[in-house]
Amino acid sequence: MEHFIKLGIAPEIIEALSAQGYTQPTPIQEQAIPAALAQNDILGTAQTGTGKTAAFSIPIIQQLMGDAGRTKGIKALILTPTRELALQIDESIASYAANVRLKHAVIFGGVGQNPQVDAIKRGVDIMTATPGRLLDLMQQGFIDLRNIQFFVLDEADRMLDMGFIHDVKKVIAKLPTKRQTLFFSATMPAEVVKLSQNILVDPVRVSVAPVSTTAEKVSQSVYYVDQKNKRFLLRHLLDTSVEEIPSVLVFTRTKHGADKVVKDLVKLNMTAQAIHGNKSQNARQLALSNFKSRITRVLVATDIAARGIDIDELTHVINYEIPNIPETYVHRIGRTGRAGNSGVAWSFVDREEVPFLRDIQKLIKQDIPVVAEHPFLPGTHVAEANDAKPFYNDGNNGNQRVARKKENLRKEGKSAAPARRDSNFSAPARNDRRDQPANDAPKPKPKTEGPPKPFTRFKPRD
Ligand code: AMP
Repeated sequence: MEHFIKLGIAPEIIEALSAQGYTQPTPIQEQAIPAALAQNDILGTAQTGTGKTAAFSIPIIQQLMGDAGRTKGIKALILTPTRELALQIDESIASYAANVRLKHAVIFGGVGQNPQVDAIKRGVDIMTATPGRLLDLMQQGFIDLRNIQFFVLDEADRMLDMGFIHDVKKVIAKLPTKRQTLFFSATMPAEVVKLSQNILVDPVRVSVAPVSTTAEKVSQSVYYVDQKNKRFLLRHLLDTSVEEIPSVLVFTRTKHGADKVVKDLVKLNMTAQAIHGNKSQNARQLALSNFKSRITRVLVATDIAARGIDIDELTHVINYEIPNIPETYVHRIGRTGRAGNSGVAWSFVDREEVPFLRDIQKLIKQDIPVVAEHPFLPGTHVAEANDAKPFYNDGNNGNQRVARKKENLRKEGKSAAPARRDSNFSAPARNDRRDQPANDAPKPKPKTEGPPKPFTRFKPRD
């Protein structure tokens, strides 16, 4: 633990870090902790997964240690965009401050406010909050920020994306000007830079893994596919052994889209759950814990809900729809390839999404290899009968059912396979010279052999 000692961290905290199994600081911790302990403001470029929570919370805990119980009121405020992140940060604070007498609480919307109000009344030293509920409780007179000495703005770029920036500014307006501010953002778009300039005083800059380098570590591929055929492609790719793809995080752009994907997969007896803003907090937490414990194989998420999901052994991310904000792509694929594990990111790209793909490639400064052969290339028609009712191989009668279905289709003169293509839509010029997956690209199975499959049959878990 001498690395931590060198950073100036107090023994009580080092003991807690050791109990967490931390043996040495991450790069962001190495840079930020001494600077913050020296009472500097911090401007940090780092995303979730880099250990930034400890980087900002350890100096706060340490500086407040001596104060415990002496002054009243909330002394540190950590603002973060999502409930999941807020909960994770509060849990981290609980563990880092395990040997210290400090009270902490977490405030977020979507659940009843009474337990949170009760916690505030009992006294809070370090509060982690999402902006909406915080403002709400401030307006009701339950929260007073006049004693704040430390303010953390976490995931500032995400606050902007999610439209929280005005709420954030309202909160900042209520903070004492004499305070230490620690500002973290994965990316630094102009508006975030402007905000940082307004609220930081002579900050020390710390930075790890610029957003575009993370992308380079993950093996990425693009599948050009019509929007309506994406579900067939998804089933096709997932119809591989559970060992090969044990857990997949699938991103959709909308909540409704996430529910549709889940419904479709569940019909095929795949274990899938959705996590998005329309779900109750309990449902979201349950979906997340089922996914982490591998009860659920597929978690389908919208960007907002997925923020802060931290799963070390996530091997695959699928962009069912690619995002229109290029940084979001990097955030998404940054969910995989953690902790030295290999990561795979597949992106389904419809004709309409090609401009978004171009923007992403510009940001990450690389062309994403295109999978040239798969059964659902643009223009492929999939027989509606299959579309409506997927087949199950659910034991003995499964085969009979498939045989019956094929026979019916034959009688109706329909084909069970994707029959024809009527479009020349293919990779844009930029990718033409890169139409093969790179050597390290994922190998979802040879897709050029045999008749194309319009759907996949359920394979029981073994
Ligand atoms: P964060 O970026 O703060 O969300 O942290 C990502 C993950 O890294 C969390 O699961 C932390 O518990 C873990 N972590 C943070 N710092 C360290 C460290 N120094 N050694 C090992 N794990 C760490």
